[in-house]
Amino acid sequence: MAETASLVIIGSGPAGYTAAIYAARAKLEPILYAGHAQGGQLMSTGDIENFPGFKDGVPGAELMINMQQQAERFGTDLRHQYVTAVDFSQRPFKLWTNLPQGITSQDFKESSLQELSAIQEKIRQEEPALAAEAVIIATGAVARKLGISGEDKFLGRGVSTCAVCDAAFYQDKIVYVVGGGDSAMEDTLALTKFAKKVYVIHRRDKFRASKIMQDRVLNHGKVEIWWNSQVKAVLGENMVEGLTIEKDGELREVKADGFFLAIGHRPNSNAFADQLEIDAHGYVVTRQSPSMAGVAAANQALGEGEPLLTYPTMTSVEGVFAAGDVVDLRYMQAITAAGQGAAAALDAERWLERQTS
Ligand code: NAP
Repeated sequence: MAETASLVIIGSGPAGYTAAIYAARAKLEPILYAGHAQGGQLMSTGDIENFPGFKDGVPGAELMINMQQQAERFGTDLRHQYVTAVDFSQRPFKLWTNLPQGITSQDFKESSLQELSAIQEKIRQEEPALAAEAVIIATGAVARKLGISGEDKFLGRGVSTCAVCDAAFYQDKIVYVVGGGDSAMEDTLALTKFAKKVYVIHRRDKFRASKIMQDRVLNHGKVEIWWNSQVKAVLGENMVEGLTIEKDGELREVKADGFFLAIGHRPNSNAFADQLEIDAHGYVVTRQSPSMAGVAAANQALGEGEPLLTYPTMTSVEGVFAAGDVVDLRYMQAITAAGQGAAAALDAERWLERQTS
């Protein structure tokens, strides 16, 4: 019989570590699976200036190492493994960390949902690594990238995936945003508060963003749109200095101080896709998701006879909770993820108490 934990947390970003700090201090002896990219997106972020408590800012990696050590100080059992499959069909839930022979973690990550389902079927034929009474999923999301040269090299050094976080570093600078959805519009407007000029590079001749957001961008004096254009390379020595852009079939080099990617996010939810309700964008649905699916789940939970929404962070499976960017297409901030992690741990603690009382 597999080892049994009362609570397993999957993911090691701000949501996962904060959930672990709360759960460990509540003596739930949580086991946290940190995954391959331990620390999550903030490990590759420069200074973070909007996380309260650090008046001079804090490097993203330092913040995450502090959170990890804080979680461990209270007894979190940190495992440097990646959860490859789960079985949430009955309690205790089962979790696996192995891969079938011949399948690498890269293959696993790149497989389609259909391929993944076949791989997971094989994984589930083995003994599970662990059984758990409750689970918190905090596996985060990754910003989509263009896959062009210089993009990774200058991440945190002029290339950013979060304008809310980094706009203030671009006072009187020239910046470029790529994308045509609501995120691109929001990022552009955030940047206009600081930058001298904001260019929006979009691959088509119209935006997909909501009309109201488009109108604000299209009518802003600091913004110039380049339609039917694609960024082909990020240029520079140590920091971003320019971009190569293809416009009307021609390659042009432009000077740029910053380059903001706003082409969407991919929540890390594939490993749970056949076990939980996931929305059309890949986000795990909880009773507090800011979406139609979340409102429906909340209504159903209220229908259970409680005057307040019980366990807002609970997913479609009772006893499985979720927090942070894997559920959140709205805020996507370290501080909101941490707050959701705390909420998920409190919900899990109360839910576990009710199971035993
Ligand atoms: P999105 O709606 O999927 O838009 C992504 C944009 O990036 C699209 O314009 C797309 O171009 C472009 N794109 C994708 N891959 C590209 C590539 N390889 N090269 C160039 N351009 C590329 O993503 P999002 O803006 O992050 O929004 C996600 C969801 O959150 C949406 O439902 C959105 O409404 C919601 N959201 C709402 C708000 C708000 O209401 N305030 C704010 C943020 C997000 P095409 O248009 O050509 O496909």
